[in-house]
Amino acid sequence: MVKMSKKMPIQYLKGVGPKLAKIFAKIDVFTVEDLLYYFPREYEDRSKIMPIRQISIGLDKVLIIGQIDHIELKQTRNRLSIIKIIMSDNSGQIKAVFFNQPFLMNVFRPGMKILLSGRPEVDLYEGGMQIIAKDWDFETTLSIIPVYSLTDGLYPKKIRNLMFFALENYSDLIIDNFPDSLKSKHDLISKAPAVKSLHFPENFTQIEKARYRIVFEEFFIFQMGLNLNKKITAAEKGIALKIPEKLVSSFMANLPFSLTTSQKKVFDEIKIDLANDYSMNRLLQGDVGSGKTIIAVLSALIAINNGYQAAVMAPTEILANQHFEKMSKLLPGYKIRLITSASLKQSCLPVAGADLLIGTHALIEEKIKIKKLGLVIIDEQHRFGVDQRAKLSEKGYRPNILYMSATPIPRSLALILYGDLERSEIDEMPVGRIPIKTCFVSEAKRKSSYEFMKKKIKEGRQIFVVCPLVEESEVLDLKAAIDEAKLLQNIFSEYKVGLIHGRMKSQEKEKVMEEFKNNIIQLLVSTTVIEVGIDIPNASIMVIEHAERFGLSQLHQLRGRVGRGDSESYCFLMSEPKTKEAKARIKAMIDHIDGFKIAEIDLKLRGPGDFFGTKQSGLPEFKLADIIKDEKILRYARSAAEQFILEDFKNASDLWESQRKAIKSS
Ligand code: ADP
Ligand code: MG
Repeated sequence: MVKMSKKMPIQYLKGVGPKLAKIFAKIDVFTVEDLLYYFPREYEDRSKIMPIRQISIGLDKVLIIGQIDHIELKQTRNRLSIIKIIMSDNSGQIKAVFFNQPFLMNVFRPGMKILLSGRPEVDLYEGGMQIIAKDWDFETTLSIIPVYSLTDGLYPKKIRNLMFFALENYSDLIIDNFPDSLKSKHDLISKAPAVKSLHFPENFTQIEKARYRIVFEEFFIFQMGLNLNKKITAAEKGIALKIPEKLVSSFMANLPFSLTTSQKKVFDEIKIDLANDYSMNRLLQGDVGSGKTIIAVLSALIAINNGYQAAVMAPTEILANQHFEKMSKLLPGYKIRLITSASLKQSCLPVAGADLLIGTHALIEEKIKIKKLGLVIIDEQHRFGVDQRAKLSEKGYRPNILYMSATPIPRSLALILYGDLERSEIDEMPVGRIPIKTCFVSEAKRKSSYEFMKKKIKEGRQIFVVCPLVEESEVLDLKAAIDEAKLLQNIFSEYKVGLIHGRMKSQEKEKVMEEFKNNIIQLLVSTTVIEVGIDIPNASIMVIEHAERFGLSQLHQLRGRVGRGDSESYCFLMSEPKTKEAKARIKAMIDHIDGFKIAEIDLKLRGPGDFFGTKQSGLPEFKLADIIKDEKILRYARSAAEQFILEDFKNASDLWESQRKAIKSS
């Protein structure tokens, strides 16, 4: 017998050729192992099959088995294809529609028996009832039918047959690294049977037990890694800074405000980290406008006065510019340098001898060498990939790192993302802030909202108008913003309307921002470039066009751009929300101003995958575990991992090591 390599490409599995392998690649299945861990999205319970005659409108989901009598392809204007079939069983006949799956024309044949699930709805065009198809399958005798996420050219029956074959012949690829003691302690079944039951369960209890095993393992291993990393970092000596107490207090005395209790508390936590000889690894969370910047400046002040350099990295050029200006004012007499791709083009490397470097990701470019890096501050840190963050820190020798984020991360996510960081939270707003009034403005009320805006401009206030990504194409988006600016310039003819967008050169952007800051521009139209961090206290109205198209957290961030001065501020959500979810988002914005509450709702509405938007956010991709739904298991696995490390460090490290290798080699 030929000894199988662990990484057997899916192509060599019996029944898969190069063509199908390509299709599998689309769903990230490259090896037989990948296939084994490609778990069903859900299950159909065969006992729930319904005679066609019993189907009625109002049922959320029905499952039927029937014969295809007729097939028809319909093309609509916007390239949408609809396949309509008529199905029958011995109780009756019904229509079913499949959206955007034209390839099914090559699969379905009259007389074919299929299993179909979907939602019954009224057929608005032809009358009568039709099923909006969700899943389908060839007829099967399985009592619980696994439903996989598929792609063009991969059909339910095919993947099921392959899975069956793979489980029969290659189950030794499923490696169980858990020691028996761990399994019995946490009541876990072995891995191979768990994987088998997930694909071909005999009953629903079996699925649950199997799921528990796999989800637990995914969380356990991940948390163990975080915990061990934290232990390793903590054991390595870093930089110990002296706190120049006198300087710090005279600096604070010169601020136009005093720190809030919450700011004082987090600054104390940071000082302890800086003063001891371990590297700081701290996440500073605080809602938009809670005053994180000043904490960053204070921390930088300490590092600089110890003879070190500090670096602040921000996700956008505008934000880097703003930090540069603000911090330059707050720290006169220090050498502060701005590092953006634009500034890099202009001059030679202005790094040597600088006390404080402020920039975009241009900071991590190789040519930027920072000799005595003592403190790294990453603003809006979730906007950066894990690699980018690491690259900046690697320019120094174990510098102290302060991560800042205005995106309030729900607890469960924080455990996953930042389990290896210490956390500080600013949980109060500076005094004197007047809560922002959020209003929903429908088309009918648009005119009167413009009147209101004019009144406010007359009083000396300024206004942001944000246009969303409307079309798929950047050019069209830009056009929407340009048109909006023209339109508003007509309506607000006695004032100056400005425009800023992502495609402008950074010099142009700077010029516009400068004019807005100096109230030469009263009304600033922008695409979403102003989303993060911008601080213009005189702007008191935020108008968000097509508010229904923004995510909830993004809306909250945008709203946070106003309400920073001492006058009453407003957020106008211009919208005609159509979907249930869009309505829920608008409602949440009106009902809540607390960022944490909003983040929680956002996470529930969108799910963790979309919550951050980017793949590189650092959110691990679990094969089965769901961070939200499985939060209980997550917490349990977290403490189980901690305990395991405490009781048996050697075994824990070995297990982590073997697991990490397995992860890497896949
Ligand atoms: P964020 O946390 O969103 O980064 P900023 O640091 O930009 O918020 O602070 C928002 C505004 O609040 C700034 O104009 C800042 O000067 C001001 N600010 C910060 N701390 C205080 C305070 N303790 N009292 C009054 N105003 C403050
Ligand atoms: Mg900020």
